[in-house]
Amino acid sequence: MHYDYIFAGSGGAGLSLVYLMSKHPVLKHKKILLLDKAVKNENDRTWCFWTKNPTAFDEIIHQQWDKVWFRSPAFTECLTLSPYQYKMIRGLDLYEFVQKEIQQNPHITQRYGTVQEVRDGENGAHVCFEGEIITANLVFNSIPDEQLFSKKGHHYLKQHFKGWFVRTEKPIFDPKVATFMDFRIEQKGEARFFYLLPTSPYESLVEFTIFSKNLLEKDAYIDEIKHYFKNYLPDTAYQIIEEEFGVIPMSDAPLSSRGGRFVLNIGTRGGQTKASSGFTFLNMLKQNEKIIEALVQEKDLSKIEFQKARFKQYDAMLLNLIQYDRLAAREVFGRMFKHHPVERVLRFLDEETHFAEELQIMASMPPLPFIHSLLHKTFLKD
Ligand SMILES: Cc1cc2nc3c(=O)[nH]c(=O)nc-3n(C[C@H](O)[C@H](O)[C@H](O)COP(=O)(O)OP(=O)(O)OC[C@H]3O[C@@H](n4cnc5c(N)ncnc54)[C@H](O)[C@@H]3O)c2cc1C
Repeated sequence: MHYDYIFAGSGGAGLSLVYLMSKHPVLKHKKILLLDKAVKNENDRTWCFWTKNPTAFDEIIHQQWDKVWFRSPAFTECLTLSPYQYKMIRGLDLYEFVQKEIQQNPHITQRYGTVQEVRDGENGAHVCFEGEIITANLVFNSIPDEQLFSKKGHHYLKQHFKGWFVRTEKPIFDPKVATFMDFRIEQKGEARFFYLLPTSPYESLVEFTIFSKNLLEKDAYIDEIKHYFKNYLPDTAYQIIEEEFGVIPMSDAPLSSRGGRFVLNIGTRGGQTKASSGFTFLNMLKQNEKIIEALVQEKDLSKIEFQKARFKQYDAMLLNLIQYDRLAAREVFGRMFKHHPVERVLRFLDEETHFAEELQIMASMPPLPFIHSLLHKTFLKD
């Protein structure tokens, strides 16, 4: 069987892209095959991201905030995000929203099982799926592969987190204000913080997050969340409604969206996870727009630029600072938010600032750890 496009892996990146294709007058008749090893019928993740622009998924925004708290021992402030908003989409809502679209499109087929291999060919690409070879003009590959992140000479940290959706007995949350990063907890030589993402006075996602090389024992995440309740959200009983656990790679290894002449890597595999923060969702949406434009205009997909080189350098430097504990992450983020307008910081994290603004941000950091990190990064051997 031959297809126009095959999606090897249809999670966040694959489903959000196929949705745009199915809605596009030029692409909606393309013959598409979606492959995944899992039926996406659970709320296995919650996507949060900031944006000032509409997205294709605004209908399923679960909650949004105009203000967020940043908290650390040295700097605490309630930040007004305007013109941005911080938004939340539940994984299951996106999966169901896209499924509804797919069911109406007779040109899209879905199959469940394991993709064993994606290979570039002479005139198209091959996918080995459950032992069967299927071909396509173009394959979008989002199948995770840890080896891509752990390359010699590059930094590789993991962002690992455990979140509880809780319902409290007393109205202790302000649903208008999220907590973007609460760094008041013990850092233990790593970057450790909490997100609080309230959806009502009684309900919130409370998430313990770490940037480090190794995962913790299961109970350690739970102990930390309980500890946080005791110290910062006391005097209320609570019930756990849902839980999430995730690991996001934070790596400066070169991840190319080009998997071959007829293979395009997308999502985390395609380098859309920001190495220094783990944020991916909005980058995936931006990547989708560029892909759709290139397909419609029949442009060379390999020529699309997804990340500017200098931002890769900044990410690598920040990973070096955190990995070798030269400067605490709470100090880096704290100084950014303390010394710069929020809008500039968010544009910087979105890789949309000008070089002069980036110099201003660098100038607000203590120079020695950065020089140390730059030298080490330049000569990094392990
Ligand atoms: C719990 C969690 C919360 C997150 N929260 C945020 C957030 O708030 N904001 C943000 O910006 N980013 C977040 N991320 C990071 C990122 O946005 C997500 O990981 C996102 O889903 C990445 O999309 P993807 O398509 O690259 O990977 P995935 O969504 O993981 O999709 C990959 C797909 O490949 C399938 N697959 C794997 N191996 C095979 C195989 N051999 N054969 C067939 N199929 C296979 C999987 O079943 C999966 O469906 C989060 C990640 C996790 C895990």
